[in-house]
Amino acid sequence: MKQPKVINHLVVHCSASRPKSKTDISTITRDHKARGFSTIGYHYVIYRDGSVHKGRPDTEVGAHVTARNVGSLGICLVGGLNDDSGKPENNFTEAQFDSLRQLLFTLTKQHPQAKVLGHRDLSPDLNKNGKIERSEWVKECPCFDVRTWWG
Ligand SMILES: [Zn+2]
Repeated sequence: MKQPKVINHLVVHCSASRPKSKTDISTITRDHKARGFSTIGYHYVIYRDGSVHKGRPDTEVGAHVTARNVGSLGICLVGGLNDDSGKPENNFTEAQFDSLRQLLFTLTKQHPQAKVLGHRDLSPDLNKNGKIERSEWVKECPCFDVRTWWG
């Protein structure tokens, strides 16, 4: 499915995997295909070493966030779970944050109207107060406050 002309959201995700696990484009693609997607749902994946890998073409609608895939691009940071407990954790590397910043600079130039936010910021506003609060998060993804970090 082709994207519309206007990209509204640049959505940051995490792979929800332990840093010590082997998670890369091929394992994520395999997982997503097992969930019934045609291929990897994200448009970009940033590895622990900061390297940026291309997923789906930006011109194709992704599969990364409920009801908001059309007109958004999904960027996935590898990590996000504590190595020991398996609980959500902001454990991304400096190299990942540097690459994410550069990628978002490029993408916001291409799509000046796009908002940068985290997956959890697109959770449903259950009490309709106009804010997505912690109690409303569908999941922790990506385990840090993207808007504060980017802002
Ligand atoms: Zn996510």
